[in-house]
Amino acid sequence: MSEPIRLARPDVGEAELAAVAAVVASGMLTMGPKVGELERALAGACGTADAVVVSSGTAALHLAMMALGVGPGDEVIVPAYTFPATANAVELCGARAVLVDVDPDTFDLEPAHVAAALGERTKAVLAVHLFGRPVDWEALRAAVPQEVALVEDAAGALGARYRGRPCGSLGVMGCLSFHPRKIVTTGEGGAVTTDEPELADAIRRLRHHGIVSHGGFDIPQPGLNYRLPDLLCAVGIPQLERLERLLAARERVAGWYTERLEQLVLTPSAAEGDRHGWQAYVVQLDRRDEALEALRAEGIEVQIGTYALHRLGAYRDRGAFPGADRAFARALALPFSTTTTESECDRVAEALARHV
Ligand SMILES: *Cc1c(COP(=O)(O)O)cnc(C)c1O
Repeated sequence: MSEPIRLARPDVGEAELAAVAAVVASGMLTMGPKVGELERALAGACGTADAVVVSSGTAALHLAMMALGVGPGDEVIVPAYTFPATANAVELCGARAVLVDVDPDTFDLEPAHVAAALGERTKAVLAVHLFGRPVDWEALRAAVPQEVALVEDAAGALGARYRGRPCGSLGVMGCLSFHPRKIVTTGEGGAVTTDEPELADAIRRLRHHGIVSHGGFDIPQPGLNYRLPDLLCAVGIPQLERLERLLAARERVAGWYTERLEQLVLTPSAAEGDRHGWQAYVVQLDRRDEALEALRAEGIEVQIGTYALHRLGAYRDRGAFPGADRAFARALALPFSTTTTESECDRVAEALARHV
């Protein structure tokens, strides 16, 4: 039996260890200088005026909704095929997540379906660059009136670009995740990127109990503890310094897979002129479940793509979404990291070829 191939291996090592050791030695484990350092690096990478780090991608989504004042009586449009946190963040604000179908070939939400789902109560659209593939942003903007806020779930899209513009800078806010399966990881972590000072202020307040730190320590609205400690910020900073190398390594691995698989299964790609963020490499095939079991039996860790929300107890009876159903049934995430080797790609491709 050959060595198992892991689904994802985070790209962390000596630089991160040294950075953590320095924070431990400093005695300032949270809300010290590393928070601002990581925030400036993220704003630089996303081309936004500001970035506010928080404890997870889910926290970023939740605070983005809170900062927009999303609440009871409001609707927020979300894709039917996404990680459930996208919709959960809306519903936990007391609003309704209105599901719209995705294009099963790209996995991203379709602007025409968004236009059809707009109503009097629509407060925002939470658009997901799924697996790092940029949403067709101009088509989405054109489909939605100006008063409806566009927010990006860019959890898997740090470094991705839509027509040259970084994901995270396209909407009024961008929500990033630093979970170990993302491009940059802090173990757990996330951030909200924005150009709007009022929104950045609101997110900073809400992540810290609602306290207005430069205003007499008032709490105008209740907040949470969604802070990201210095210990974890320190893990993210060296990765952001080498972000371009991380992205290039992922592009190279994606290229190896595509070369080997494009005649066999539907392979992922970005639209012409865009840059894929390659959070994951997710192919599509008809007998997905059989392939999934067979590859796992050979020690190749594969996974489904993500969830079709209307198949979950929390989001049942919200309409029919054939695109999301198709993606849910056919998507297969292959082992994918910056350190995936060409011979691992060979082994995965050969195993897959035996099961399509
Ligand atoms: C990972 C992910 C999230 C959640 O991020 P966490 O940091 O795990 O909370 C939300 N949305 C999408 C699209 C994701 O990929």
